[in-house]
Amino acid sequence: MSLDFSTLFLVATLICTLLGGMLLYFGRQEKLPALNWWGYAYLLGAAAVAQWQILRLVAPDVVVLALASAGFIACGMVWNAARVFHGLKPIWPGLVLGAVAWLATVFSLPAESGWLRVAIGAGIVAIYAALTAEQLFAERRKTMKRPWAAMLVPLLHGAVLMLPIVLAELLPMQGGDAVNNVWVLIFAIELVLYAVGTVFVIFMLVSERTVRAHKTAASLDPLTGLFNRRGFSEATARMIEREGAAGRPVTVMIFDLDHFKSINDRFGHPAGDEVIKLFATVVSGSLRMSDLCGRIGGEEFAALLPCSVEEAMTAAERVREAFQNCGLEIDGAPIATTVSIGVAGGPADIEIDVLLAAADTALYQAKRGGRNRVVATAKEPLSLEQGRRRAAQQPESRQQVVVRNAISMGA
Ligand code: GH3
Ligand code: MG
Ligand code: MG
Repeated sequence: MSLDFSTLFLVATLICTLLGGMLLYFGRQEKLPALNWWGYAYLLGAAAVAQWQILRLVAPDVVVLALASAGFIACGMVWNAARVFHGLKPIWPGLVLGAVAWLATVFSLPAESGWLRVAIGAGIVAIYAALTAEQLFAERRKTMKRPWAAMLVPLLHGAVLMLPIVLAELLPMQGGDAVNNVWVLIFAIELVLYAVGTVFVIFMLVSERTVRAHKTAASLDPLTGLFNRRGFSEATARMIEREGAAGRPVTVMIFDLDHFKSINDRFGHPAGDEVIKLFATVVSGSLRMSDLCGRIGGEEFAALLPCSVEEAMTAAERVREAFQNCGLEIDGAPIATTVSIGVAGGPADIEIDVLLAAADTALYQAKRGGRNRVVATAKEPLSLEQGRRRAAQQPESRQQVVVRNAISMGA
């Protein structure tokens, strides 16, 4: 099979242009600046290849080679796009450094050292590929489920480019132009594969980010920015598992704003919303970073603390006091802001639902006791497993419960 260079480079140019246009289109749609960076990088890369193919027929070599520096800027843009995608600033000197090194090579090396130029050019592109791979690797924990797939493309690209340099060291290059042409051919094919592979990686990254953003949005309460009920139970399950494995206790608090309905009734729903936001600020400001808190209902909040009930009582008292003293005024008039808090702690392996139910009972007692107070459960609740075991040890009492249930159901 014989491959025509010009046709191959024409295909590479067209594919890069198409992919560039596609990336810019999606960049605009998704409002992602990194996609614009990648899109323009592809267009610039395509322009660099195209000028090389067209101008080399009419212009002196040195002009064509100098203009090829646009290709190195495109590589720098691909690397910076990966930075921008991960929320970092682009490194402007790094963007043009490869092109500057290339220009220095073109103007300082004699025309006959064509092989060395190829080697230096490939080296520059390989460095950018390695930087891109490193950027993706550094961010792997935050963003990616499949970091290896994302890193493989730039790494392979760098490796293919470095291959002729390594081989030239190992084997004496013979055949002059013929050998160079084989490498140019390999580069052209690799360029197409790299361009397509990189777009595949980009879309993988963007889709993972979109899924993550939706997941986060589904776990957060839009009014306060705290976890919603779903996010809270997911996050607490993770904390309970971690603390349970270490054999440490956990404590739950449920907060319910006192006479909140009357704030709504007197000042309107938007004012009520402001009070809810105010309490969210108070609760997250009064607890530690390691504590979890969420809004689990209208004016109900919950927190999970990795500590004993005694320690949690102090924290709960801090929240109660801070909310009482927050000095809220509506239309210039001071508004009483108080909260009742139920606290329940349990052994390391306790289920969150059991703790929430126990804390809810304590909260009910706080309300009945006159509100604006912290009440802890009198007895530590049992985990479901402990409850089952205890029930199994007392078969008679369990039978009695079953019989009583049967009677009440029959009634
Ligand atoms: P208590 O001291 O017994 O807790 O009295 P309360 O008035 O706080 O109790 P209740 O549970 O009867 O009232 C809660 C009110 O919270 C009722 C509901 O209209 C209001 N509410 C629920 N969600 C929201 C919300 O998102 N925004 C606002 N502004 N009000 C809400
Ligand atoms: Mg309530
Ligand atoms: Mg209430």
